[in-house]
Amino acid sequence: MTSLPLRIAVIGGGIGGLTAAVSLFQAGFAVDVYEQAPELTEVGGGINMAPNATRVLRGLGLGAGLDREGVRPLSTHQRRWQDGRTLQRAPLNPLCEELYGAPHMTLHRADLLAVIAAAFPAEHIHLGHRLVGLANKGCGAEAWFENGAHITADVLVGADGIHSAVRAALFGEEDPAFAGCVAYRGLVPAERVADLALELGSQSWVGPGGHLVHYFVSRGRLLNFVGWTEHDRWNREDWTDRATIARALAAFDGWHEQIRTIIAAAETCFIWALFDRDPLPRWTAGRATLLGDACHPMYPFMGQGAAMAIEDGAVLAACLRAFHDPAEALSHYERRRLPRVTRLQQMSRANKTRFHLPDGPAQQARDAEWARASDRAPDTLRWLYEFDAGVGGALGIDHKSSPTAPALIPDRDTQ
Ligand SMILES: Cc1cc2nc3c(=O)[nH]c(=O)nc-3n(C[C@H](O)[C@H](O)[C@H](O)COP(=O)(O)OP(=O)(O)OC[C@H]3O[C@@H](n4cnc5c(N)ncnc54)[C@H](O)[C@@H]3O)c2cc1C
Repeated sequence: MTSLPLRIAVIGGGIGGLTAAVSLFQAGFAVDVYEQAPELTEVGGGINMAPNATRVLRGLGLGAGLDREGVRPLSTHQRRWQDGRTLQRAPLNPLCEELYGAPHMTLHRADLLAVIAAAFPAEHIHLGHRLVGLANKGCGAEAWFENGAHITADVLVGADGIHSAVRAALFGEEDPAFAGCVAYRGLVPAERVADLALELGSQSWVGPGGHLVHYFVSRGRLLNFVGWTEHDRWNREDWTDRATIARALAAFDGWHEQIRTIIAAAETCFIWALFDRDPLPRWTAGRATLLGDACHPMYPFMGQGAAMAIEDGAVLAACLRAFHDPAEALSHYERRRLPRVTRLQQMSRANKTRFHLPDGPAQQARDAEWARASDRAPDTLRWLYEFDAGVGGALGIDHKSSPTAPALIPDRDTQ
């Protein structure tokens, strides 16, 4: 490290960008966040934070905030769309804490973002800054914003989501492809569904051409649901961002009464089209790199998109601390992260097919497999949940070597 800390510009103040900002700030860098929106907001309702993500957030000192705002689901329960039969059920808490030293949590996205933002100096978050151009400058990067502002930084991090302007500037424009799925998302005050006597857990209902997940958020005051259905094409003229409850109910016509009761009790319902990109071979060019959905958007069918963005930030901070040359640090960061996120992108895609099988032989084979080996059980997902985003795990550093002269060892099988 030189005597002056590296100046790092993070473009995008979503879950990925803000967590990276906190990780980098706590690692001693001079960090500024540039967010296009006039305020920090998170659209949509709930989010799962698996143990690999809560461990990083706790490491940043955010454990008390998570405990204050979040819910610790007791189990995850997969059920059949029509009759509600159990296909698999696995305990989550307190088992995750016992196995991985961190809980599995469900939170309202706005609560999660507020907890993360509280750990970063507000005066270094620049709202209303929409990046419109950037240039690599050998030993730094320059960026321009729609409001006329112009900045320079030693390192620039594009955390600006699936439609990333940083990605387009570094690697060319390419529109994401519609993934053939839309989601109906809603929040239900818990008292409206009290008669269902729902367990404090996550339930996932799978059926032909769709699935629906529900879990509690906001200290148990709200039940969040996301119901996916398949569609050939996305047409903005046909769909509005705010769906009617009647339309969501029609999409789940014939499904179990519990699901229909939950949808009908929602205050409002939003519709969300799923977009996708193929894995990128590179994230870094010169002093600029990417993070989160900007470089590895994934179907949310492993519940890991934001978790991967959170891990990215921790690994990026560890790499920038360990290597004197920022370009070398960025290239090491990219190498460490690519295999793991690519694996999750592929698994998430495969789950779209598996969750949406029409009733028939393939569905019966899937159900039999789930009954035999619970693929959602925390001990089955060891490779995913035990990820260590601290110095050892992030860098592949042999702990026995000197901390001031880290020796790099080949990729371990924790990816
Ligand atoms: C229905 C659904 C359910 C999901 N469930 C889960 C889950 O349970 N667990 C999980 O881990 N993940 C889940 N995900 C995935 C997760 O939501 C995303 O992976 C995560 O939010 C990505 O965070 P990000 O910060 O990379 O991008 P974003 O959240 O998209 O944030 C990007 C930010 O950049 C800003 N921005 C964009 N362009 C510019 C610009 N030009 N200049 C400045 N700022 C800009 C945006 O305003 C935004 O604030 C789910 C996704 C969906 C759709």
